[in-house]
Amino acid sequence: MTMSALVAELRETLPTGHLLVDGDMSPFTTDSSPGVAGTPCAVVVAITTADVSAALAWASRHDIAVVARGAGTGVSGGALAADGALTISLARMTDVVEIHPEDRFAVVQPGVTVDELDRLAGSHELMYAPDPASSATASIGGTIATNAGGLRCLSHGVTADAVSALTVVLADGRVLHTGTRSRKNVAGYDLTRLFVGSEGTLGVITEATVRLVPRPRGNQVTFSASFPDLTSAARAVSEVMRGAQTPEILELIDRTTANLIEDFSPSGLNRDAAGTLIGLLIGGDASTTELMRDLMEHHGAISFAAADDDHLLDARKKAFPALEANGMGVGWVASDSAVPPSRLPELLAFVEQESAREKRTVAVVAHAGDGNIHAAISASSDVDDMSRAHDLAQRIAQKAVELGGTVTGEHGIGSLKTDLLDIAFDEVARNVHHAVKAALDPKGILAPGRAIGVAGTR
Ligand SMILES: Cc1cc2nc3c(=O)[nH]c(=O)nc-3n(C[C@H](O)[C@H](O)[C@H](O)COP(=O)(O)OP(=O)(O)OC[C@H]3O[C@@H](n4cnc5c(N)ncnc54)[C@H](O)[C@@H]3O)c2cc1C
Repeated sequence: MTMSALVAELRETLPTGHLLVDGDMSPFTTDSSPGVAGTPCAVVVAITTADVSAALAWASRHDIAVVARGAGTGVSGGALAADGALTISLARMTDVVEIHPEDRFAVVQPGVTVDELDRLAGSHELMYAPDPASSATASIGGTIATNAGGLRCLSHGVTADAVSALTVVLADGRVLHTGTRSRKNVAGYDLTRLFVGSEGTLGVITEATVRLVPRPRGNQVTFSASFPDLTSAARAVSEVMRGAQTPEILELIDRTTANLIEDFSPSGLNRDAAGTLIGLLIGGDASTTELMRDLMEHHGAISFAAADDDHLLDARKKAFPALEANGMGVGWVASDSAVPPSRLPELLAFVEQESAREKRTVAVVAHAGDGNIHAAISASSDVDDMSRAHDLAQRIAQKAVELGGTVTGEHGIGSLKTDLLDIAFDEVARNVHHAVKAALDPKGILAPGRAIGVAGTR
């Protein structure tokens, strides 16, 4: 059968208007990574679980690769369209099915944005805690598939900690329900967690039951502390994490990032400091802020400022758009390693030392309390130079693993970082990943080659 005959067959199984071909597919091919999109055979714009099930049953029958996509804000190329593959967009599955304030959970379709869910939770004085800096547009399905982190994940956990049940369409079109609505559940394996962070390689999430937490109350103070070097800032982070009072948010930006943000949108950041910590304290009083000031100054902060509005956090959230405006993705290689917070000084010292050795600009922004750094490594368009920048990204990832951490803290491997898998997994871990993949997707049609590096069988 020709591809157009196959696509015609798929069209017959879907409601009118749910299948796009040719030029209509273009809004569904790229993501926020620098990767180059392929040309899909078609795009299914799903509205129901049944649409996804029909599409996957068709793809499985005909050995067609499938790429799931949410909002396309991913930065590792996981949602990039692939040549000849079927893209399934979940972006229009935007129903908030239920909110149960008394049980503190919500049931949502995958296309609901993170901010929309948090806004609705807020009307019950609750909060959906995971808040990637892309929360205005990132989808619940995409953030579950990548196990997204965010600013306040320091105090409330990452996306995995907020997911209690999922509806997932498996590669052959069967519909799997994992987890429960109860707060506790130990029946069987934790299949819910298996799908969190699976980057579209094990199934397509079509509904999620997520936990809500009480919205923190009390006095809110944001603070910034500027340091003459990154290592001192990182030591201050480590000291904060040793203490009894964890700030709601604790982020780090380096001098390069602060200047990119100031050039992009003046925000009052210190352009001269080597590192600036930005934090949020909730529920304390003046003495809490003074304790934080003392701690920062003890670790060498050259200035400390407190504010009762969000302008410092807003400035931090502009880091990625500011980098993008300066050629992120064309002239930069992104790295997303994470380490235990006490090892952050060593990781940052390594980044500083290697960038100085190579005379290369590296812009660092970090979910510092979580030990998760985003280092954007500058490169020219010259192929060799780009390759050396990738080598540096690999060395940072290797160092993070040596320090007890990981090659990717929240952005995932996607299609662009599979070179890091050999650093992330030993042979046994790789084999177990491949066995799980083979059990759930024996034909290898879901995101072939991506996330865990298993190619399709076709
Ligand atoms: C400005 C900016 C700031 C960012 N800040 C953060 C941050 O602070 N923390 C963070 O973690 N990330 C951040 N990101 C990265 C990105 O927003 C996250 O990875 C997010 O989770 C992706 O969600 P999405 O809906 O856009 O997913 P997409 O980009 O569409 O897809 C991401 C991956 O999930 C898979 N997928 C999507 N939906 C489904 C589904 N329903 N079922 C199965 N698989 C699916 C895709 O196949 C792909 O592998 C940022 C990105 C930008 C552009």
